Amino acid sequence: MPKPLEQLHESDIERKCCIGKVLTNSLKHLTQRFMDCDFEWLLPVVFSKSTDPLWPDPGASIEKRIELEIYGETVRTTSSMIVHKMVACSLAHPRLFILSPNIRIERRERARTGRHVYEFTQLDFEVRDATSKEIRRLVETVLSGLIGNLKRELREELTYLGRYHSLRVPKMPFREYPRRELEKKYGTGWERRLVSEIRDPVWVTDIPREFYDFEDFETGVWDNYDLFLPQYGEVLSGARREWEHDKIIRKMERDNGIKKENYALLLKLAKERRMKPSAGAGIGIERLVGWIAGVQHLGETQLFPKVPGVVYDL
Ligand code: AMP
Ligand code: MG
Repeated sequence: MPKPLEQLHESDIERKCCIGKVLTNSLKHLTQRFMDCDFEWLLPVVFSKSTDPLWPDPGASIEKRIELEIYGETVRTTSSMIVHKMVACSLAHPRLFILSPNIRIERRERARTGRHVYEFTQLDFEVRDATSKEIRRLVETVLSGLIGNLKRELREELTYLGRYHSLRVPKMPFREYPRRELEKKYGTGWERRLVSEIRDPVWVTDIPREFYDFEDFETGVWDNYDLFLPQYGEVLSGARREWEHDKIIRKMERDNGIKKENYALLLKLAKERRMKPSAGAGIGIERLVGWIAGVQHLGETQLFPKVPGVVYDL
């Protein structure tokens, strides 16, 4: 289990510093690539009335949701910036990205997966009028470029971490698997089987989940996608979005437990036809860096680890 910084031995700190270099270089490359493609870089928010419901998502496992009162209003800490991103993309910036802290109080048994922390960072981005395919090609270009760049610039650090040779620059286009085919082949445990068998990142498409991902009501097919990494699992979720009021309402009513009043502004803008079609994705930075560095636990990518069930001083 990752220890707090002050309890680490010298060699652990050296390793942590190598992972820190991978993190810095990855953030430099990713943000530069998005800016080169004319994306605006927005700053994150922490408190809002609306945040990601994280439901219904087959991967969700939240022990507690943080709600508090400020100025007589109930606000929630950011679980993802999906709602802000959709509104910002519709009303202001057609191409945007945000590095945002996500707070998700994961169930404590998730400490053992090594793949969950309760505070993490997403590189969240959205593009007005984009197709899912365009977003997937963009992600492939950015990620392949990132791995190539790290292998050139951080040879010493990746060698120290034992990853220089095993980390391969993924070939484009990445393979795509429709979720229904995986279910047929592996059953409901497809995710575990898939990530133990793949050697490069792969896409999975058509995953039923939250109201904001586009669903074709005629066919029941979802126009969304996840990127899976070998051993480490899902590193990105994305989709083309819903923007039409009546569809969003229908899905919210279908998803038990979604409170429409928590999405009042989104619904108002959709009703006024001010929401625009868009597509995007969010990349989990700790998962990405954890895979590149080959960590046992994602908390190793954090200087101040946020391991489910464990609260350190910092
Ligand atoms: P989601 O909105 O749940 O699809 O999350 C987007 C991305 O954030 C995922 O693909 C992961 O890379 C990352 N992520 C989600 N939950 C966690 C967590 N508890 N710890 C670390 N990374 C996470
Ligand atoms: Mg996801």
